[in-house]
Amino acid sequence: MNRLSLVDFPDKLCMNLIVPGCNYRCSFCPHEQLIHHHIPMPKIGMAEIVKLLRPRMGFLDGVSLGGGEPFLHRGLGSFLSEMRFQNIKVRIKTNASRPGAIQWVLDEKLIDFLSVFIPAPLSKYADVVNYRIDPKDVRRSIQIVRKSNVAHEFRVKPVPGLVEQEDILEIANTLSGSRRLVIERFDPSHTLDPEICGSDVFSQSELEDIRDSTSPYFGEVILSN
Ligand code: SF4
Repeated sequence: MNRLSLVDFPDKLCMNLIVPGCNYRCSFCPHEQLIHHHIPMPKIGMAEIVKLLRPRMGFLDGVSLGGGEPFLHRGLGSFLSEMRFQNIKVRIKTNASRPGAIQWVLDEKLIDFLSVFIPAPLSKYADVVNYRIDPKDVRRSIQIVRKSNVAHEFRVKPVPGLVEQEDILEIANTLSGSRRLVIERFDPSHTLDPEICGSDVFSQSELEDIRDSTSPYFGEVILSN
């Protein structure tokens, strides 16, 4: 848990909560501990989270829930309901693998912002995430999020040799007409696959090229810090 974050919930000051476990195995994943071991991680109960949040609500806008993949957790619904009961806004970062769960939290009006990470173009999705997923599920998640009234963004991560500029353009084409794209930076010092640890990154000017080439597809494109 990171008690204060200025960057996770756009335009909001939030508490950042992280859940363990992910169904994907992206080789560039920076959360090796989270997705493999599930421990050591401190477990924080709902009552404790609410206790931490209440006195801070004067200056905090809400919580950001990431991971890992929050939609894998059975307790997510009761957590979100409690946040609603406490009048606390919630942002979730998801990998788009569970369209049914995304639809459910939208129908129940349990979230305020969705960040949807699209690790690869649909044509090479399974190869990048190292998980057998039907690309139709990802496409459905994208459609559900785009049709919703909830504020949202899509996120991508260019990685030399794995997710190239043309791959980002293919993703942009799939997401064309969406409000916002965030281009995340690959951190080669923390990777799930040791073989790509320390490998090359795209330079600032290459990332700016990617940003500029994807700009026509979105309302705004942001290069993360
Ligand atoms: S979807 Fe995110 S958390 Fe899951 S393996 Fe990929 S980078 Fe890691």
